[in-house]
Amino acid sequence: MNQISTTVSSEIPAKRIALLKGDGIGPEIVSAAVRVLERIADRYGHSFWFQEYLIGGQAVESCGSPLPEETLAACREADCVLLGAVGGPAYDSLPAPQRPETGLLALRSELGLYANLRPVRLFPQLAQTSPLRLERIASGFDILIIRELTGGIYFGKRGRRQGCFGEEAFDTENYSRMEIERITHVAFQAAMKRNRRLISVDKANVLESSRLWREVVHDISGGYPDVDSSDMLVDNAAMQLIRDPAQFDVLLTSNLFGDILSDEASQLTGSIGMLASASLGEGRSGLYEPIHGSAPDIAGKDIANPIATILSAAMMLRHSLGLEQEADAIEAAVENVLDQGLRTADIAIPGITAIGTQAITEAVVSAL
Ligand code: NAD
Repeated sequence: MNQISTTVSSEIPAKRIALLKGDGIGPEIVSAAVRVLERIADRYGHSFWFQEYLIGGQAVESCGSPLPEETLAACREADCVLLGAVGGPAYDSLPAPQRPETGLLALRSELGLYANLRPVRLFPQLAQTSPLRLERIASGFDILIIRELTGGIYFGKRGRRQGCFGEEAFDTENYSRMEIERITHVAFQAAMKRNRRLISVDKANVLESSRLWREVVHDISGGYPDVDSSDMLVDNAAMQLIRDPAQFDVLLTSNLFGDILSDEASQLTGSIGMLASASLGEGRSGLYEPIHGSAPDIAGKDIANPIATILSAAMMLRHSLGLEQEADAIEAAVENVLDQGLRTADIAIPGITAIGTQAITEAVVSAL
């Protein structure tokens, strides 16, 4: 454990934030979010206690496991967890139990974080960075993707065996009624606080697990008569996100489909470097992380966009610490920086000089 800072003393006990920087750009972007949180602590008189723990490839190198016991225990104890990303080419050939992604999946599962909230919003300042033609996004879009996070094919039975044609590999999509029910309630409750429209995405024309998913969503929809809900097949959803993203309000889907659709949706906003996420469950700690990976191609170059992680920290303040005003302030500071025309390389357009990770972080801190 590495305790990296304690900010602003106060009579109120410090909120304990476990930092899992991880691999690749993880350390750079988590440090950026900590800078912003320190500024929030200063400005609003809070006390945050940051403690750093190992996860992913760096944990494998240090102690042979991608999720050391100490990390898991600390995350259980913490008020919330802020994560960078895990993985990288150096770890790709490790056996499955040692792979960085195995550690992250185990962390989500062990903390019972079954609901992953991924807001996908077009900042008007970045409309020109979106690959969509301006007329398609003229009215903007604001989607909340709710992805089931601890079930489905990522956690189902998998393996290899000898079949009629030699070696085979298999993975299994498995969902229980209970798992679908609880994530569906999260989605309907979120829709009630938004525009009361919900689209549940599945592949019920082919998959039995999707047919159960659809049945359960229909059963639960009766309890939310004010929400306009409908189903969409995942192949159509992939197309509709490009054709008309504004039609979506809350998009509810499974672990695998949510993983893929949210990366697709991120591009509509200009860059995957802009998208935050919150993973919530019944337990004490929420986990907050950008939706992107460890971006090994740009690690250590001070060019990664830290905004997704900074916005994840804002979600952490809102969902785990009840600091709504402070979360709003971070989001407003990000808007302010974009209004000033400041851009990292991934969101810069021709004619704009990109600035680095640290420079854009300092701009957000100054705007606070
Ligand atoms: P990635 O998201 O890391 O990168 C995809 C592309 O987006 C790259 O070109 C990268 O440079 C760019 N990018 C990502 N984040 C950026 C940011 N903040 N600013 C600017 N550009 C950014 O996906 P990948 O390349 O498929 O995966 C790299 C590694 O990350 C793999 O080992 C993968 O398993 C892992 N991964 C981890 C997570 C996680 O920790 N939650 C999620 C996805 C992938």
